[in-house]
Amino acid sequence: MRKLEYIKKEYARTRTMPGKWYLSSCRYKFNITPVRIFFDMLKQRKLVGLKCMGCNHVYFPPKLVCPRCLTMPDKWVGLRETGVIATFTATYDKDEKTGELVPVPIVAVRLDGADTIYIVEMNPNIKFDDVYVGMPVKAKWRDGELQGNLNDIEYFDAIDDPAKSITEDAKAGGN
Ligand SMILES: [Zn+2]
Repeated sequence: MRKLEYIKKEYARTRTMPGKWYLSSCRYKFNITPVRIFFDMLKQRKLVGLKCMGCNHVYFPPKLVCPRCLTMPDKWVGLRETGVIATFTATYDKDEKTGELVPVPIVAVRLDGADTIYIVEMNPNIKFDDVYVGMPVKAKWRDGELQGNLNDIEYFDAIDDPAKSITEDAKAGGN
């Protein structure tokens, strides 16, 4: 388990750089070698998370440093393609015929086995009104050869929700 002991030293060396900085024009690079396996696995239609052995948090997508305990997560764990919607919001598309604005769900999914959420699109056939927090979903991979990035998951699709049918049975029984 690697703790980031150097962080305090880095702070000691922080300097002020006078001048005007247009940060929006900057591009930065970072070394993805430690998380290369994540992208290689995506290309094979497999999902892996990175587990922090300091606090047991599982990150998907992986993080180079655990913001909770400043340990470098280094244990890869296999994840299922299923998860639940943790939260969601809408973007709006204009219906070309009617000119009406139609809400399109953008969802944050917590994959089964992971502790973090990530933001994805839903199956375009699913209406915004049918999306709810706790909704079980499954990743839909793109067809053909994959690129080895998160875009390889085209969208998330709704799957059967046993809890929902129980709720509906209870409602029907109550009438
Ligand atoms: Zn941690």
